[in-house]
Amino acid sequence: MKKIGILTSGGDAPGMNAAIRAVVRAGIYNGLEVVGIKRGYEGLINGDIEKMNLSSVADIIHKGGTILRSARCLEFQEEKGFKKALNVMEIFGIDGLVVIGGDGSLRGAEALSKAGIPTIGLPGTIDNDLAYTEYTIGFMTAVGTVVNAISNLRDTSASHDRINIIEVMGRHCGDIALYAGIAGGAESIVIPEVPLSIDEICKRLIQSRNRGKRHSIIMLAEGVVESSYEFKNQIDERAGVETRLTILGHLQRGGSPTVFDRVLASRLGETAVKLLIEGKGSRAVGMSKGEICDLDISEALLIKKEINTELYELAKVLSI
Ligand code: ADP
Repeated sequence: MKKIGILTSGGDAPGMNAAIRAVVRAGIYNGLEVVGIKRGYEGLINGDIEKMNLSSVADIIHKGGTILRSARCLEFQEEKGFKKALNVMEIFGIDGLVVIGGDGSLRGAEALSKAGIPTIGLPGTIDNDLAYTEYTIGFMTAVGTVVNAISNLRDTSASHDRINIIEVMGRHCGDIALYAGIAGGAESIVIPEVPLSIDEICKRLIQSRNRGKRHSIIMLAEGVVESSYEFKNQIDERAGVETRLTILGHLQRGGSPTVFDRVLASRLGETAVKLLIEGKGSRAVGMSKGEICDLDISEALLIKKEINTELYELAKVLSI
């Protein structure tokens, strides 16, 4: 292993830069040449590749986004595009690859591994929807951003006795809503993994109002309903209230990564380099019981994500 490449792919996440920095620095520290591939698999197909040195990654650990930029690339999933990517790897003499991204990006990494390229996948997504790792890079930062938003909304909803519905990201995974709901003291947490009828939500609202709560926060994960506006209208109608809906959207994807994400990304990045040096490709690196772990990338991607029921029950207990 002499030359390794690194790319970020799919939806960006705060902490990706810290992971890039760790791969570049650990690679150079261990005598490897490191190249950065721009815009994910698109850059791999087009040969948009540049040599990284120690200063290429200076002053980025605190920055959200990704200096290598990111993209979604359909061409890579077609045979012709995939072959082009393999050719570029050969032409540029890249012996191994580190891919930072979500589920789709890691499936791309799996495909490259199967084609004989030693490839390591690092979990980079705010959604925390990769089951093989306790946490993905960017998740905790996104939760922090949502909790700050809840605090702001709480101030104004307390002044006006308002019920706030806050829609957060996570695709089919309710982790952002669950963690932020607990940390922000939400009255209801509505996530795709646990069916909750409109009437149950309304019952909780009415009961908490009768107990003297004058304002409430309902966390709504984006994967639950087609339209949050429709959800809001149904609550308003059924409970006889007037809620306010806030859709946080892409602001959850940005911002300076938290300490947790910076340290996680640094540890994952260094481990990826070590694995490639040891001649181990086809691995997904993550966190298990607070320790860094690595497992076969195909096996990792087969694990089904489940909600932490203990946390969900805790949220219910604390929101009475
Ligand atoms: P994320 O990595 O955030 O889940 P996507 O699902 O959009 O984002 O995937 C990012 C890119 O990874 C895709 O544009 C495509 O190039 C590649 N990719 C996704 N799924 C696969 C797959 N099954 N096989 C090969 N490459 C894939």
